[in-house]
Amino acid sequence: MEERINLLDLTLKQMQEVLSEMGEPSFRGKQIFSWLYKGAASFDEMTNLSKPLREKLNQKACIELPEILRVQKSAKDETRKYLLRLSDGNTIESVFMKYKYGNSICISSQAGCRMGCRFCASTIGGLKRNLTPGEFAGQILQIQRDTGELVSHIVVMGTGEPFDNYENLIAFITNIHQKEGLNIGLRNLTVSTCGLIPKIRKFMEDMKQVNLAISLHSADSGIRESMMPVNRQYPVEELLQTCREYTKETGRRITFEYALVRGKTDTKEQLSLLASRLRGMLCHVNLIPLNEVKETGLSGSSRTRAAEIAAYLEGQGIPATVRRELGADIQAACGQLRLGISSEKP
Ligand code: SAH
Repeated sequence: MEERINLLDLTLKQMQEVLSEMGEPSFRGKQIFSWLYKGAASFDEMTNLSKPLREKLNQKACIELPEILRVQKSAKDETRKYLLRLSDGNTIESVFMKYKYGNSICISSQAGCRMGCRFCASTIGGLKRNLTPGEFAGQILQIQRDTGELVSHIVVMGTGEPFDNYENLIAFITNIHQKEGLNIGLRNLTVSTCGLIPKIRKFMEDMKQVNLAISLHSADSGIRESMMPVNRQYPVEELLQTCREYTKETGRRITFEYALVRGKTDTKEQLSLLASRLRGMLCHVNLIPLNEVKETGLSGSSRTRAAEIAAYLEGQGIPATVRRELGADIQAACGQLRLGISSEKP
């Protein structure tokens, strides 16, 4: 039997084409698309389709949601971390978070990651593979089913480098933004990158309204390179220049994620360099005291030190906040997500 297509991988237009190849009118495409994003997990739930059509669909297509292997609930807040199994057995993690403004999900873009950042757990086993558009969306749909709650904000900050899987990322964003999809506003979406410059340029044309976050972590090329191999190909000076162009082109504020590594990125000299390089840019600095990842041997600054640093940057005219720490007790915080297999270890 030929392989069935996962309908969640299709854009609305592609869905309409598939349906018309099956001899169906094009409005059926829209109907099915909207069922998918309402959370239908089988064709039988699509009650306004005839039984013969549902059977025909079943032969040609499927709705593939990731399987929930484990849910960990934080004892401190309402954060939940999901370990999800993809159809080929690869596993990924996604995190559900509650904020005053609504529910948010942090989703993965790849199984594993090949960027090699020294402080991050997601890259330890290397890259397994890219996620398909349907696997991006499947994380949200499955978690909405499990929690019974709708999500209003999405951040692509789980495992993987979203700009290393660019085409699928764009297809996914297009789908969930559709009125018939999840109808999520582009401004409620945030994509974070470690700094793949050509893709940042492309993104500013393709997705002007989506929030962009840059994992900066140091304004000093030497220090950045010692933590982030990507800095060799795309040095921080060039990255910041591109960010400046981004803010001019889009008129939108950029978020810089800055991990506070004790004795490395939290020193006076490093912070003064940061301030001088960001001065005058339409930006915001999100300070993240490095979360512990056993393998890395690096440690984070205290929250008191982080608050001092935020005050210092503010004093220099650079808006800065310390990121709230959600789900740290279940290893769901930034940089702690990893392939499920290894997170099984105590
Ligand atoms: N690959 C993308 C998406 C991942 S986002 C990117 O690099 O932006 C996850 C964020 O958590 C990134 O800013 C990443 O640098 C940061 N991070 C990774 N490990 C961390 C750790 N141990 N402590 C705090 N932040 C970490």
